[in-house]
Amino acid sequence: MLTSTSLKELGLFSSSGAIQIGQRSLEGMGGIRPAISPIDGSDLATLRLAAADQVPDVISEAQKAFRIWRRVPAPKRGELVRRIGEKLREKKALLAEVVSWEVGKITQESLGEVQEMIDICDYAVGLSRQLFGLTIASERPHHRLMEQWHPLGPTLVITAFNFPVAVWAWNTMIALVCGNPIIWKPSEKAPLCALATHALVQEVLKEFPDVPDGLLSVMIGDSTLGQRLTQAPEIPLVSATGSVRMGKAVAQTVAQRLGRSLLELGGNNGMIVAPSAELDLAVRSIVFAAVGTCGQRCTTLRRLIVHRSIRENLLDRLKRIYNRLPIGNPRQAGILVGPLIDAAAFQAMQRALERAVQDGGIVTGGTRLTSGVPLGGYYVHPALVEMPAQTAIVREETFAPILYVLTYDDLEEAIALHNAVPQGLSSAILTNNLREAEYFLSPMGSDCGIANVNIGTSGAEIGGAFGGEKETGGGRESGSDSWKAYMRRVTNTINYSLELPLAQGIRFDID
Ligand code: NAD
Repeated sequence: MLTSTSLKELGLFSSSGAIQIGQRSLEGMGGIRPAISPIDGSDLATLRLAAADQVPDVISEAQKAFRIWRRVPAPKRGELVRRIGEKLREKKALLAEVVSWEVGKITQESLGEVQEMIDICDYAVGLSRQLFGLTIASERPHHRLMEQWHPLGPTLVITAFNFPVAVWAWNTMIALVCGNPIIWKPSEKAPLCALATHALVQEVLKEFPDVPDGLLSVMIGDSTLGQRLTQAPEIPLVSATGSVRMGKAVAQTVAQRLGRSLLELGGNNGMIVAPSAELDLAVRSIVFAAVGTCGQRCTTLRRLIVHRSIRENLLDRLKRIYNRLPIGNPRQAGILVGPLIDAAAFQAMQRALERAVQDGGIVTGGTRLTSGVPLGGYYVHPALVEMPAQTAIVREETFAPILYVLTYDDLEEAIALHNAVPQGLSSAILTNNLREAEYFLSPMGSDCGIANVNIGTSGAEIGGAFGGEKETGGGRESGSDSWKAYMRRVTNTINYSLELPLAQGIRFDID
């Protein structure tokens, strides 16, 4: 069982308070909520949530921390991140166990999630020596024009249940080297993942007595707490990951006070399979992207747009594989598909399938497993749905393993179908035709933030910028120059002459 062994080894006890400020733990003053395992519906712990009234104290600690942390040179800030990365390496398997128990990921994927945290630590350590601005040619003699990047201030990180630790790390490690304190509001469905992660951070903080408590804090609570935090003008940046509904609410609240938001919202990811595609590779990439994490990734493959000439062959192969997918307890070796997060997710899946049938869809799978799986969990056969057209339900993100199959005759038609959804996160084309591949990646092709060739839609690496367009929110996290979102840019002009020439040749003589 999780509670007695893993949590203790992580330094996480059931008495952990819902508010963690650095090395301090405070009891929440909000309602009581159990942490439930989707594996078997068991209670893992019971927590008293943080209350909205407790927000000002946490923010004030973060502000104090900011005044100290922004003075620390960035490479020294990287030293803290380096140690967090080492701690994560040491405790990788334990933390992965908590992830599996609390959100139902198979062990391989939970380990992968913690590995992603380690990777971003490594990346951020390097980045801590590369936070550079430009020097720009000035139009005035003896002047220098340059830009600097400065820390922004306390950063709120709101995370979703399905990447309960990695998304925090993507944001936090970059924000830390940029000089910002972080307040984490994790999903109410994954509080133990957050507390376990923070317990590891606390072990590292002991080695850094000068680091102020408010640098890293956690508040366990639901959407009401999230709303209260997003209203705070003392928080210049809100990075929020979750549903489009949540993102629209957060965007409005933060915009009202002219704060910055970085939004990573829902996807409805499509893949075009062209006649020249390698079918073995297609089948492998489709199945991983569509059923991995039981269809609960933002990058899950939800729409397959297949050329008519290969449709029957590909569908037959997919159906054969879907038929023998190992579904069950995600902690058991060999299992590839774990449970849905909860009953609500199962009901949403069933409603979506009913709507698809009403629209003329033919469903294979989609039912709940009743034997060979732990009781109390929602285990489903991933669904393949052959659709006559891209109807309203296909254009929605249903956070469950449903793969809609559509047919196309020419590439323009396929790309038009592909782009005709409100979301714009990840996309892929499987083809051996160079012209098709390049066209898909061109401005006339996929309209998503991520566009792949001959791999699936999920499984991004941390080195690239991650995020999407349209209702996915437009934010970019992780690699490339995403760090700029966590800093403020200052443009400096330095005059090293005794003259005062004005820009644009303006004359303003006062004698
Ligand atoms: P959710 O929107 O229900 O909750 C996400 C987080 O937002 C939780 O911490 C929740 O408490 C908080 N929240 C909800 N309403 C809020 C509000 N009004 N103000 C402030 N905070 C609020 O999402 P979920 O069910 O946990 O996760 C699944 C969704 O997240 C899917 O749509 C998935 O595509 C998306 N997701 C996107 C990415 C990405 O990077 N684009 C990554 C993971 C998940």
